[in-house]
Amino acid sequence: FKGFIERAPRETDMELKVGRISGGLKAPAGSGAFLVKNLYLSCDPYMRGRMRDSRTSYIPPFVPGQPIEGFGVSKVIDSDDPDFKPGDIVAGFTGWEEYSLIRKTNQLRKIEQHDVPLSYHLGLLGMPGFTAYVGFHEICSPKKGDTVLVSAASGAVGHLVGQLAKLHGCYVVGSAGSSQKVDLLKNKLGFDEAFVYKEEPDLDAALKRYFPQGIDIYFDNVGGDMLDAALLNMRVSGRIAVCGMVSQHSQTDPQGIHNLFNMITKRIRMQGFLQSDYLHLFPLFFNQVTEYYKQGKITYMEDTVRGLEHASAAFVGLFSGRNVGKQVIHVASP
Ligand code: NDP
Repeated sequence: FKGFIERAPRETDMELKVGRISGGLKAPAGSGAFLVKNLYLSCDPYMRGRMRDSRTSYIPPFVPGQPIEGFGVSKVIDSDDPDFKPGDIVAGFTGWEEYSLIRKTNQLRKIEQHDVPLSYHLGLLGMPGFTAYVGFHEICSPKKGDTVLVSAASGAVGHLVGQLAKLHGCYVVGSAGSSQKVDLLKNKLGFDEAFVYKEEPDLDAALKRYFPQGIDIYFDNVGGDMLDAALLNMRVSGRIAVCGMVSQHSQTDPQGIHNLFNMITKRIRMQGFLQSDYLHLFPLFFNQVTEYYKQGKITYMEDTVRGLEHASAAFVGLFSGRNVGKQVIHVASP
């Protein structure tokens, strides 16, 4: 990572460096750390927030000149932590590099089951899947028959939220950035409806078309104009889960929201959340979603690029909608 930015990220904000690991592939004695070989790395929109020199965020900024940090699936090569042995596969925070020296955190876990692809632990069975699960079940208070709008619906979180809502008996509409994505939502993932938000000159009119009776739940991944239009179309006692604001990350002058008064007239509950506050529910999520997947009740979409040298392009692509489903980087095989 080269340095802090205020504009949208570019590939040139990151550079690939080649170097030697001093002391060989060893976890230093007494460090309590373990040395891992990184297999898969995750591209997540929240990482853009770490490219800003902000001390007020819930997570510290990246250190210029140092490898980018993010979720990954890795194989332990050497360990100074008695809980981890060489050969163990772990998912958690690691570096965007071939080998990393890492430590236990509350989001690090050993992968015991090997009957789902390892990369799925970065999406379906990892942080984005968990975000979809807690965001929908804990924040949206869903009921059978509710009408649900999901934005960035073909992305890592969105495509899972929509399917969880369908499993709950809801009517689900997704917004996405291309007709190819809309086609996948309707014909592969079982969304009732989907539309290309970029082709709608009037988002309010579009929502009225898909929700003639109004929206009970809006799962917001984007903020900005879509949030404003959703506020106009919420039903009385509607719920808005504020998961992310990917449209606002690089705006120096974030778009104003004009329709907040609807929160009063319609008694809307709008709640932001962070998945990391709900980690006590992770085992429940993991078992439930694994079961859904194995029963064929959830379809998972992953977008893989091969090679660390393509990581920066994959990351930047999140902000132009290049990814379809969860964006991962395949760095190496175990
Ligand atoms: P995605 O896989 O959905 O990738 C981002 C997608 O956002 C793109 O594919 C693009 O799809 C869409 N997008 C990009 N720019 C814009 C824009 N200007 N306006 C509208 N849509 C845009 O990412 P995730 O599923 O991983 O994350 C989704 C959201 O959830 C993010 O806001 C993220 O920060 C948030 N998040 C929050 C968590 C929490 O704990 N609260 C945890 C994890 C994620 P398209 O082609 O449809 O435009």
